[in-house]
Amino acid sequence: MIRVSGIKLSINQDETELKNAILEKLRLPAKDLIQYKVFKRSVDARKSDNIYFIYAVDVEVANEAKVLKKFAKDKDVVPSPNLTYQFVKTGQQPLKHRPIVVGSGPAGLFAALLLAMMGYRPLLLERGADVDQRTQAVQKFWQTGQLDPECNVQFGEGGAGTFSDGKLTTLIRDLRCRKVLEELVAAGAPEEILYSHKPHVGTDILRVVVKNIRQRIIALGGEVRFQAKVTEIMVEQGQVTGVMVNDSEPIPTNVVILAIGHSARDTFEMLHRLGVQITPKAFSIGVRIEHPQQIIDEAQYKKFAGHPKLGPAEYKLAYHSPNGRSAYTFCMCPGGMVVAAASESGGVVTNGMSEHARNAENANSALLVGVTPADFASDHPLAGVEFQRQWEQKAFALGGGNYHAPAQLVGDFLADRPSQSLGQVAPSYRPAVKLAELKECLPYYVTETLREAIVEFDKKLKGFAHPEAVLTGVETRSSSPIRMERNEQRESNISGLYPAGEGAGYAGGIISAAVDGLKVAEAVAEKFKPFGEGT
Ligand code: FAD
Repeated sequence: MIRVSGIKLSINQDETELKNAILEKLRLPAKDLIQYKVFKRSVDARKSDNIYFIYAVDVEVANEAKVLKKFAKDKDVVPSPNLTYQFVKTGQQPLKHRPIVVGSGPAGLFAALLLAMMGYRPLLLERGADVDQRTQAVQKFWQTGQLDPECNVQFGEGGAGTFSDGKLTTLIRDLRCRKVLEELVAAGAPEEILYSHKPHVGTDILRVVVKNIRQRIIALGGEVRFQAKVTEIMVEQGQVTGVMVNDSEPIPTNVVILAIGHSARDTFEMLHRLGVQITPKAFSIGVRIEHPQQIIDEAQYKKFAGHPKLGPAEYKLAYHSPNGRSAYTFCMCPGGMVVAAASESGGVVTNGMSEHARNAENANSALLVGVTPADFASDHPLAGVEFQRQWEQKAFALGGGNYHAPAQLVGDFLADRPSQSLGQVAPSYRPAVKLAELKECLPYYVTETLREAIVEFDKKLKGFAHPEAVLTGVETRSSSPIRMERNEQRESNISGLYPAGEGAGYAGGIISAAVDGLKVAEAVAEKFKPFGEGT
């Protein structure tokens, strides 16, 4: 196959014209084109009066060698790279017990899936409920404000990504990303995620996908248990010997993949007591901003706003303040909802999600400012957790102590005055918002930097500083406040304990967490024989 990149079709052209564009680019007669498949499709909307799609296609032609020779100097025509996932060679050490994976977020699910595919029969332990029960617990919280600290937007089958926008964009460049996307498609995600430049799944489809991955792990000989919180890790002479589940059930093992996410604060404390090497790490805090999606569409696509081929528009903005801080938008959810994402009693946490259709009224995005360990109250390894908790608790009190979130109109936030009433934008956060001054639940340097940033962002995206846009706080779980150190074999300072994913500080989203899960599973496989072989 030949990979042909840089083929452009204007927004008004039909995709059937792609065939002609390929023939034109390769200067071939139609009879020489055997078949083609879209590999990537992206939108170029930099000139809003001339929006077009750019394609990279894999093409089968009659005389491949001749065509490649003809375009030898054209970097847009190259042999298609082989993207097939390569399984690692398995190691020699026998395993006395099944490997255990803790946490069923993207890191844990993909670690367990790979181990299951390779014959290791992993046991996956998840503190929260399966996705159906979890959905009920989350809906109950959003409707009534009754939080289940063990089963919520952070904890339960699928991990933090289940109630999300399901954006699958990532900054990492790793061939394993393709493997993750292919497995997601095999589990029910739309095929377009394989070629879309900005792939997205949506919470409605993700819930089906995670269940299908669980069933696949089981079919391959693995086991998945819910409401099974790892409360202790047993260690003898620096080597893992087992885990304790729910303070009562010991399970022997020599391999534990720890994919616990960034919100398992009780587990972080247990690991710290155990002597796992943990260092505090930078992350970001701020608020969610909510605009009518139409404002964003018009700012980005002008006369093409609402065009069916484009879908709802996105944005990504960054600002560097003279005060040395940086603000940026993060996890933007077109046509989505702001969600209550608390996992600990007495704290309010915001985040965003959307359904696959992304057809809700509002666009939302996190609006964050970076903080570093220098901002924390101490140099304790878990000082970042305490920092998050402090602002979450202030937001809780400000919202009325019932998980209603404090909110303020952008115009009032910029003018430093309380909001008296809501305007054009109906906030989507449930159970409800309470109008308040957000500066009371944010560090002053975050408030100041956000004020500057909103004004600057409005210059790049008209309407961003719309006075009736709504800010809801606080967003504190942008990434992990800690890193668990690991060596080149991806083990922590305790032999057999493999930190993985976002909670361990090695990922920042669904895809990078899943890829890290694969990497850690590979490290386990490279060291040990599959369970049952040679024991
Ligand atoms: P997690 O997904 O957090 O999974 C950790 C799992 O471990 C949890 O299920 C937890 O219950 C379990 N666990 C914790 N402690 C224990 C224990 N002691 N015993 C047993 N189980 C335990 N990222 C994107 O790329 N795109 C998006 O659109 C996006 N939207 C998001 C929207 C929301 C509302 C949220 C909360 C996050 C979103 N993210 C998004 C971030 C993404 O979800 C995370 O980066 C990703 O889920 C991290 O994966 P993980 O496997 O490392 O951890």
